Amino acid sequence: MIATYDNTLVLLSIVVATMASYTALDLAGRVTHSSGRTATLWLLGGSAAMGAGIWSMHFIGMLAFELPIPVFYDGWITAASLLIAVVTSGYALSVASRRVLGALSLLGAGIIMGGGIAAMHYAGMAAMRMSPPIEYDPGWFAASIGIAIAAATAALWLAFTLRSTTSHLAVAGKLVSALVMGCAIAGMHYTGMAAANFAEGSTCLVAGGGLGLSPEGLAAALGSVILSLLIATLVASSLDRRLATRTARMLGEVEQANAALLAAQESLRESEERFRSAFESATIGMGLVSLDGHWLRVNGSLCRIFGYPESELLSADYQSISHPEDLQADTEQVRRLANGELQSYQMEKRYFHKDGHVVWVNLSVSAVRDARDVPRHFVVQIEDISARKQAEEALQNMLREQALRDPLTALFNRRHLEDAVEREFARARRNGEPLAIIMVDIDHFKSINDRFGHACGDAVIRRVAQLLVGGVRRSDIACRYGGEEFLLLLPGAPASRALELAEVICRSARDLHHDCDGRSIGAVTVSCGIGLFPDHGATAEVVMKAADRALYRAKEQGRDRVVLAESAIRRQG
Ligand code: GH3
Ligand code: MG
Ligand code: MG
Repeated sequence: MIATYDNTLVLLSIVVATMASYTALDLAGRVTHSSGRTATLWLLGGSAAMGAGIWSMHFIGMLAFELPIPVFYDGWITAASLLIAVVTSGYALSVASRRVLGALSLLGAGIIMGGGIAAMHYAGMAAMRMSPPIEYDPGWFAASIGIAIAAATAALWLAFTLRSTTSHLAVAGKLVSALVMGCAIAGMHYTGMAAANFAEGSTCLVAGGGLGLSPEGLAAALGSVILSLLIATLVASSLDRRLATRTARMLGEVEQANAALLAAQESLRESEERFRSAFESATIGMGLVSLDGHWLRVNGSLCRIFGYPESELLSADYQSISHPEDLQADTEQVRRLANGELQSYQMEKRYFHKDGHVVWVNLSVSAVRDARDVPRHFVVQIEDISARKQAEEALQNMLREQALRDPLTALFNRRHLEDAVEREFARARRNGEPLAIIMVDIDHFKSINDRFGHACGDAVIRRVAQLLVGGVRRSDIACRYGGEEFLLLLPGAPASRALELAEVICRSARDLHHDCDGRSIGAVTVSCGIGLFPDHGATAEVVMKAADRALYRAKEQGRDRVVLAESAIRRQG
């Protein structure tokens, strides 16, 4: 019996096979990329769509095949062939979505799937229930099974390889692969058909109506299956597009967030690096101190200021090397800082260097707080101000000293004298020791001022002051008492020493020759009055008055002489 083919239907069958193949390739990817229930749903839906596609291709092929006799299809066998196609597709999909697929497993799966497709095909043929039964040419028959297995293996390999690709190029690749697969499946079908021999006078045992499907009925069934397949594919692909758009948007957002995170990490790293290098290389001493007062980090300058190696400082308490007198003020400030009463504080305080000497520092402390404003640790900056402090101390001593000195002669002034006199009288009384006071006044000084000018008078005052300083002992006190009047306080000095010193002064003054501005002033004489403790009084005031009276008498008696209170001793010679 000679059969003919409807070419349009043949073409349609190839298109359907290609579509089924594309669906298969697409679904394999989706099963792979989902998990749990979603993966199972995709696998079930995928098996149905793909199985239906392959099955449709087969029966479109059957419709294209025209026998000169009326042909019906057994409904049960037709349904069984659809089931075979769906189960086979399910198996194929699960294989293609495996994580790894070795060559042997691929071949095994190809054989199973190819066998399944062939089984579907020959079941479909059997649905015609021809009498006498269709005879198959063994060569073509074997070829059809071989093609089925080869097509299935190729399909599985392609599905496995292309499942993860999403780019446009990959979509084109999938289309080409689907076309190749579609042709291979169709090739299997038409090879199988070529194997079939329908004997002359064969009849179809399937009765029309009921479960017997007429070609028109089959076409209607096929139409609905293909429509469902198309809809399923469209829904899946639109779902996929939406998913892809959403995924792309989410990926974009994730990438942006990642980039921002990376930038933030980089800037954090940079700022940490900047802090570290500033910390390490700072010429000022820097340290981090924990809330419980331990050094957490110290820089080289800090170690140098205190003279300790880093390891020793780090194991020490922050306040352990503090000067005890400054400790309380510092601790109080730390407490206020930790409470949040202060943002930072600064103070000058003392520490002990490792070798024991005192180091003066300018201390600045601030608290590092977390996002909730809770202090985490303290940042301490320490500047060594020992040199400045020493200079300050020297200056202060100098100023203190200056306040006690007469600026013209550098002798002690009257203010200092009052203290010294009280002190020395008290000591003399306590120790039962004598004490002498000599008042010295330059004779006729006014005329020096008048003749040579005030500046020359000053110069004379200075020379006489130097003479006095040269004549006294360390324990004696020389003071400028008034304009050109001086007072010598001689603790422990008896009358003899006082008289002797006064005489020396008178003599030395007489021997002194003064010059001023290139002009000769000549010799200047002085007069001295001496008062003694306890001889001339029990108090400083009385003794000083006695000395003053003695001086007055010396002036009265002609100047250039020494007079002891109550009794005048004329200078010899
Ligand atoms: P006498 O022998 O009696 O002491 O006579 P005198 O001229 O020295 O008299 P007096 O002691 O009273 O004179 C003090 C004078 O010293 C008065 C004042 O003009 C002068 N004089 C006071 N202080 C200074 C000073 O700091 N510089 C100068 N150049 N003259 C002063
Ligand atoms: Mg005088
Ligand atoms: Mg005088």
